[in-house]
Amino acid sequence: MKNFSKRHSAPILFVLLWGGLFCLLLCGCGAQTSVPCRYADTAMGTVVRQTLYAPDEGTADSASDAIKSLLDQLEEQELSWRLETSEIYAVNEAAGSREGYLLSNEMTQIIVRCLEVSREAEGAFDMTLGSVVRLWDIDSWAAVGQSGDFIPPDSELLRQALGNSGYDRLKLEPEVSGENGEILQARIFLPAGMRLDLGAAGKGLAMDRILDSLKDSGISGAVISIGGAVLTYGDKPDHTEWKVGIINPMEPGEYMGILSLKGQWCVSTSGDYERYVEADGIRFHHIMDPATGMPADSGVRSVTILTRDGLLSDILSTACFVLGTEKGLELARQYGAEALFVTADGETVMTEGMEGLFSPAER
Ligand code: FAD
Ligand code: MG
Repeated sequence: MKNFSKRHSAPILFVLLWGGLFCLLLCGCGAQTSVPCRYADTAMGTVVRQTLYAPDEGTADSASDAIKSLLDQLEEQELSWRLETSEIYAVNEAAGSREGYLLSNEMTQIIVRCLEVSREAEGAFDMTLGSVVRLWDIDSWAAVGQSGDFIPPDSELLRQALGNSGYDRLKLEPEVSGENGEILQARIFLPAGMRLDLGAAGKGLAMDRILDSLKDSGISGAVISIGGAVLTYGDKPDHTEWKVGIINPMEPGEYMGILSLKGQWCVSTSGDYERYVEADGIRFHHIMDPATGMPADSGVRSVTILTRDGLLSDILSTACFVLGTEKGLELARQYGAEALFVTADGETVMTEGMEGLFSPAER
């Protein structure tokens, strides 16, 4: 993919117009940290925006380039179900084989954690839904807009695809274990026809990798969004809070309210308002209920999860969307996560900790 689009146009214009010392004081992203450097591009099929506070522009540019590369690598080498270069592609190709597929250490950890949440969420999060997700293909339909030509999948094909899914049918055989018996590397066996899909976890993983890359980068503060996922890190020079808007699913151009956050947080939102298609007045969105193979219909329009850990926040947002408010709140609390649900009637339901962080928009 192309390099990140270049940035700082407003400050540079200022330099040209006013020149001299005055501009040195105002044009951050130069010699000082008071004005952030901003970058925007696409990666992992979505828009990525970075706001980085650094001691100088070169440091911010290097950190931004490193983030862009790691997102491209994550997609190309690990997560893509379309690119033959990725590990998930290879795992899916090996479905039904007797020898299975020897996972990398990183992918082993990802799959172990996904399976753990699947069990706790009673299957509401299920990475083995690949065949069901491909059959619906909502992402492609959403990408071409509301063409009106959409036809839901044939019920027999859907039944077969659902029959090929089920996280409890996937087998992991430990190859390398740690001192405490934890699995460090495993061989995975998918039954024939099963397809892994880590679309519900990919942006969360991206946030974790970005956090690692920021640690020795010289960046003092950052807010980075990857589609609906937002990562906050460090501090602003004026020590004010990071502000993260929660989209109103009823009016996606507006906010339900704002989260005010200090330091490191991973914010993941799953909703029915971005990737969907409508036919005969019915909205078909991209988050599937593994019990039915149909778009989940739990009475919520969006769920926002707040944790320190990206993978967990992303998985939980999807699981909680499928579970609905009551069971979803229970699951979030179990993991010490903060959660905010927007229900179909426009109400907000949230954990106690979220109440202290969320300011509703005036309406
Ligand atoms: P989330 O709620 O976090 O996740 C929803 C996504 O998870 C669904 O789109 C589906 O993929 C999957 N899913 C649906 N229901 C469940 C469930 N109950 N349990 C578990 N998972 C579920 N992502 C990849 O990982 N690999 C790719 O190769 C890839 N290619 C893409 C190509 C294009 C052109 C586009 C537009 C997107 C692509 N994506 C890919 C992204 C992916 O398809 C999802 O759109 C994206 O991950 C949705 O993230 P989210 O945070 O909006 O939703
Ligand atoms: Mg998710």
